[in-house]
Amino acid sequence: MKAILIGGGIGGLCAAIALQKQGITATVYEAAPELKPVGAGVGLAANAIQGLQRLGVAAEVVARGKQLTALVMFDGAGNVISHMDTQPLSRKYGINNFVIHRADLHEVLQQHLQPGSLVLGQRCVSINQHNGQVQAVFADGTQATADLLIVADGINSVVRRQLLPDSRPRYAGYTCWRAVIENPGVEINKMISAETWAPQGRVGMAPLKGNRIYWYACINATANDEAMRRITPDALAAHFAGVHPPVQAILAATKPEQLIWNDIHDLKPLKQFAFGRVLLLGDAAHATTPNMGQGACQAIEDAVVLGQCLGQEADIAAALKKYEKRRMARTAKVIRLSRLLGWVSQWQHPVLAGFRNVVFRLMPKQIDQRQMEDLYRVDF
Ligand SMILES: Cc1cc2nc3c(=O)[nH]c(=O)nc-3n(C[C@H](O)[C@H](O)[C@H](O)COP(=O)(O)OP(=O)(O)OC[C@H]3O[C@@H](n4cnc5c(N)ncnc54)[C@H](O)[C@@H]3O)c2cc1C
Repeated sequence: MKAILIGGGIGGLCAAIALQKQGITATVYEAAPELKPVGAGVGLAANAIQGLQRLGVAAEVVARGKQLTALVMFDGAGNVISHMDTQPLSRKYGINNFVIHRADLHEVLQQHLQPGSLVLGQRCVSINQHNGQVQAVFADGTQATADLLIVADGINSVVRRQLLPDSRPRYAGYTCWRAVIENPGVEINKMISAETWAPQGRVGMAPLKGNRIYWYACINATANDEAMRRITPDALAAHFAGVHPPVQAILAATKPEQLIWNDIHDLKPLKQFAFGRVLLLGDAAHATTPNMGQGACQAIEDAVVLGQCLGQEADIAAALKKYEKRRMARTAKVIRLSRLLGWVSQWQHPVLAGFRNVVFRLMPKQIDQRQMEDLYRVDF
C-alpha cells in the first residue's frame, strides 16, 4: 500500500512514522525547501507522550526536552492565581507537563522516517481521486499517485479548502509573539511552566533544556494589525511595563530576529475528516487555539489512531471513517474548551479580570485535575 502525506509538520511526520510502522510506503511532501532549526517551544502533555511511545520515538524526544513539575498562573503583580502540582498526574499517566524546542522534536521525528520518504520543496496545489487511486498535484506541475492521501498541511490547508470550501480559520481576537532565548541571567523557577494574566495581556514562559527559556505573549488586537506586525521586543517589554520582574527582563532580552509573530486562529469543528481515500489530520482537520497546549498533542494522537485503524481495516475508506469516528468528538471538545479558556484569560476589563482571578483562585483543584485527566486518558 502507498500513501502520500501533504505537509511535514508534527502531524505529517508522526502520521508517516505510524503508517511506515504498518508496512505502508509513506512519502511526505513538504512545501518548504528546507526544514530550518528555528521555531519556538512546544508543550507536550501526557497524552502526546503516550502517543510518541506508540510511535517508538518517546525516549529520544524526552531526552531532548524538559519535564516540569507544576503549572502556575500569576496575576500581573506576581500573586499566584492557581498552582497545579502536575507530578501526581505524571505518576498516573506518564511524562506530563513537558516542554521541548520544536526544532529538536522535528529532528527526532525526521530521523525516524524511512530514508528518502521526506520530499522538500513540493507544494501541493490540488488533489483528485478516481478508480481507487489518489493523486496530488504540485505547484511545479508534477504529480504523485498512491492508494491514500493524508492532508496534514496545517490550519490554512489548501487541500481542505478544496474539499470543504467554507472551512476558513476564525480569528480568536488576540495576537501572539513567541521566542526561545538564552536566559539572560534572570531568576526563574526552572521546574514550572508559568502564565501571567496581566491587565495588558498574557505572558507565558517555560524553561527549556540547557539555559534556554521559551516564552509567549498574547495581546488583544484586530486581525492582521500592522502595528502588531512591526512590534519589537523592546516595545513588547514596554507594553508589559509594571508586570512582575522576570516578564519584562525576558521580553527585553529577546533579539528582534528571535521573535515569531502569529495572529491566533482556530477552525470551527468540522463534521467530516474522511473523504473516501483522503483524510484530514492535525491542524488541517482541527486547528485549536493554543490555550490548552493541545494542538500538536492532538496531531500526535491522530497519527497513532490512524496507524491503528489502517492496521485493523483492510478497506482504506472504512479505516479512514473509523478514524473519523474516533477523533471527531475529542478534537471538537479541545477546540471549544481552548477557545473558551482563551476568551476568559484575555479579559482586560479590570472588573471582569478581577472577578475571573478570584474565581480561578477559589476553584477546587479537582476541577482542573478532572479536565486534564480527561485529556490524558487516551483510547489507544
Ligand atoms: C502560539 C502557538 C503556541 C502553540 N503551543 C502549543 C503547545 O504548547 N502544545 C501543543 O500541543 N500545540 C501547540 N500549538 C499548536 C501546534 O503548533 C499545532 O497544532 C501543530 O504544529 C500542528 O501540526 P500540523 O503538522 O498539523 O500542522 P503545521 O505545523 O502547520 O504543519 C503543516 C506543514 O505543512 C506544510 N504545508 C503547508 N501547505 C502545504 C502544501 N500546500 N503542500 C505541502 N506542504 C504544505 C507547512 O510548511 C508545514 O510544514 C501552538 C500553536 C501556536 C500558534
